[in-house]
Amino acid sequence: MAKQSITLLGATGSIGASTLDVLSCNPERFEVFALTANTQWEKLFELVIKFRPLWAVCYDDTSSEQLQKAIGEAGLSTRVASGLTGLQMVASDPAVDTVVAAIVGAAGLLPTLSAVQTGKKIMLANKEALVMAGDFFMQQVIKHRALLLPVDSEHNALFQCLPNHHYKNGVSVNWCQLGVEKLVLTASGGPFLNKSLEDLQQITPDQACAHPNWRMGRKISVDSATLMNKGLEVIEASYLYGISENYIDVLVHPQSIIHSMVSYKDGSVIAELGNPDMRTPIAHVLAWPDRISSGVEPLDMVMNNRLDFSAPDLVKFPCLALAYRALQLGGTAPAIINAANEVAVAAFLQQDIAFLQIAEVIEMTLKQLDITSAEVLESILLADKQARQVATDIIQSFNEKTEILTGSLKVD
Ligand code: NDP
Ligand code: MG
Repeated sequence: MAKQSITLLGATGSIGASTLDVLSCNPERFEVFALTANTQWEKLFELVIKFRPLWAVCYDDTSSEQLQKAIGEAGLSTRVASGLTGLQMVASDPAVDTVVAAIVGAAGLLPTLSAVQTGKKIMLANKEALVMAGDFFMQQVIKHRALLLPVDSEHNALFQCLPNHHYKNGVSVNWCQLGVEKLVLTASGGPFLNKSLEDLQQITPDQACAHPNWRMGRKISVDSATLMNKGLEVIEASYLYGISENYIDVLVHPQSIIHSMVSYKDGSVIAELGNPDMRTPIAHVLAWPDRISSGVEPLDMVMNNRLDFSAPDLVKFPCLALAYRALQLGGTAPAIINAANEVAVAAFLQQDIAFLQIAEVIEMTLKQLDITSAEVLESILLADKQARQVATDIIQSFNEKTEILTGSLKVD
């Protein structure tokens, strides 16, 4: 069997590390064409030594110069590129079969679209790309006959629980006719599930990033703590499976053993279970429709003999309701909340705003901007840019009224 040639966008991140782990378990099936990062060139250099890709790309120019120097001094043959052009080149090269989209945030959209527009198999972790570009993204998948497979654990679980032979990869399917009643996305509830609204006023970035079940990058960890991650996932599921928000429920399940489920009209509920480890969905889509080993321990149901469920608290976690609203509004609304969220999370991580202000920034940004049609890429990118500016101005206006005191905020 010919080896699958892989470009891994976001190789130095958490999904990047899990992907490389699975590739290492199955060297006979895969070869690494390219690895990419933004600024962490030293980490990328270590990966170049280990995986010997044809290409290594840093988005940041200075980092790529440093990487080039280190590779030259080490006498390695890996070639180095930089910037958006470099990312797009390794995502679209004819020698590449599969692109793992694991850049965090809106920065992943254009490189991922390059992979879509050259008809690759895309393993999508970068949910923000699909949230922003929604229908446009899915139309491109159809137009260019790309194969889009979900890495996000909930969407991967749904993929495994839906009637697979009816999966049309972007072409809208009449799920009701197929007996599907609801897609049920499970949510761990994040680190603050049992905290009161009052407790949430004093949260620090490190507390927000300490997820109980999953080890992830800092942005998605904060998203999990606010439940915006689940909101983005509702939008992701809606576009990916062509199903309206009325058919998507969220269920809090703190153990993260059930990764999501599909409820059918005959009363059957099909769930996908496993240890909370991203190597499982990554291995699933890498080999799909085959199965390969992922390095993940088998699920011990005796040790995990308790599975709890509850409804999400939309008062404590308003970001989830905001995401449902954006999906209902349609057009550029998902791109607007995604951009506002990225700006607000970055400000929270820099201790410029408090945890609960993340939702306020998103809500105010959505209110201030006109929602337009998102049929062309230009309007999506414009909405993203405008939302970033509005969110930044809102944060500045907050900070004119507040003063930072050792990690907490005090109102004048
Ligand atoms: P990390 O923060 O751990 O890694 C992000 C990666 O993206 C790094 O390689 C980083 O490079 C690169 N990157 C950041 N900014 C840019 C940029 N402007 N241009 C090019 N590359 C950039 O994130 P995660 O691995 O946690 O998440 C990646 C994506 O996967 C996110 O969209 C997230 O929502 C999704 N996801 C993650 C899960 C997880 O378990 N972690 C689960 C499900 C989905 P550098 O290291 O140089 O900064
Ligand atoms: Mg997820």
